[in-house]
Amino acid sequence: MMKFYLILFFSFFYSLTYSQRFDKVVIKSTHVHGSVYMLEGAGGNIGLAIGDSSVLMIDSQFGELSDRILNEIRTISDKPIQYLVNTHWHGDHTGGNENFNTHQTTIVAHENVRKRLSTDQFTKAFNRTSPAKPSSYWPEVSYSEELSLFLNPSKILIMHVDSAHTDGDSFVFFPEDNVLHLGDCFFNKRFPYIDLSAGGSIQGLIKAVQTALMVADEDSFIIPGHGALATRDDLLEYYTVIRGMFEAIEDAMQRGVSLDELKQAELDKGIESWGEGFISTAKFIDTIWTDLDRRK
Ligand SMILES: [Zn+2]
Repeated sequence: MMKFYLILFFSFFYSLTYSQRFDKVVIKSTHVHGSVYMLEGAGGNIGLAIGDSSVLMIDSQFGELSDRILNEIRTISDKPIQYLVNTHWHGDHTGGNENFNTHQTTIVAHENVRKRLSTDQFTKAFNRTSPAKPSSYWPEVSYSEELSLFLNPSKILIMHVDSAHTDGDSFVFFPEDNVLHLGDCFFNKRFPYIDLSAGGSIQGLIKAVQTALMVADEDSFIIPGHGALATRDDLLEYYTVIRGMFEAIEDAMQRGVSLDELKQAELDKGIESWGEGFISTAKFIDTIWTDLDRRK
């Protein structure tokens, strides 16, 4: 009997802490430039573009936050959400898909997002399986290389970068407003997560950031997947750091340095705090090492 109480207590405690996880989250919106806004809460940064008769939304954070997100969107515009673009399949970017998926809204993403949301996904780095999502979460329009969307009167470009953060990453570019949403290919002033189990790779990520640096100019506004609104200079700094670490680790590996030795190495000044987020410095080194090691 005692044991039963204990289990009951634990499961109650667990569900309480899980639902409380989002209790204190406040959705904050920032005007980026022209018709584009950025919304921050918990999970990936949301982009919002206001057209003449409808709005476009990029990513949907967690399902628990959908009411709060919609309330914040309604302080900016009361027009219907015509498109919801997912930058990739992760739950902190697609968790609200079902709630936003009304008959007025079309979910758009790379074809591999649909593939991954509709099947069980095992993530080796966290030894965790994300079960397949119901069809109400899946993109209704998918593409393979690039796609143009029209949010009257503006044209919006969606481009795929291959094997970077995942195998289904999209960049969303607003040429008229010079705003670029990079999804999780860009963690501003933090080490990025690379989902090796879902087709991501460090070399692909570096290449994707190179592409973003070519699209952006000095006046661009860049929305990262995580972290504060950025400029091209911030993106260039991120590129320099991740490329530098990749090259140093690749070189050390060839010289026979061990993974443990690498983790003891000192970081450059100014980037010590980059490992204080979701991905620690050791975890980032581990990811690059694992990625290079499996290619040997
Ligand atoms: Zn992600």
